[in-house]
Amino acid sequence: MSAGDGGAPAGPPAWAKPGPAGALTLAAFFDGVREGRLVVQRCLTCRALAVPPKAVCQECEAISWEPAPLGGEGEVTSFTVIRVAPGRLAAEAPYPIALVRMTEGVSLLGRMVDNALDAVRVGLPVRFAPPPDPSADPPVITFRPR
Ligand SMILES: [Zn+2]
Repeated sequence: MSAGDGGAPAGPPAWAKPGPAGALTLAAFFDGVREGRLVVQRCLTCRALAVPPKAVCQECEAISWEPAPLGGEGEVTSFTVIRVAPGRLAAEAPYPIALVRMTEGVSLLGRMVDNALDAVRVGLPVRFAPPPDPSADPPVITFRPR
């Protein structure tokens, strides 16, 4: 078989091969969350941030990454209030869930704590906080008003 003959490729496509050192797994991302750290991925080619971790950059299709710790501060860009919560969270309802645009530009969905029900609004400055229950799998991404 020669290159370009239209046959099946000899190996897995580039996106299916293991990434270089620095590529994160979803498990590693949540381990960081559990320990109170927000570490996402930065594309080594175009510098775009990715969260949750991805194999292929959505901006430039590169597959080379490095870890990118975030400072933990952001701003609410949207939210909703959970009034009927699932399972283990049922007793804690109502509580707000917010889409937060981090200072670095990526957005994360997380739960608001610290009596945030009255304070939550679009534009509210927030700070990432360690999850109330680190044993939860996956841990809940948590934000507090700042
Ligand atoms: Zn890229």
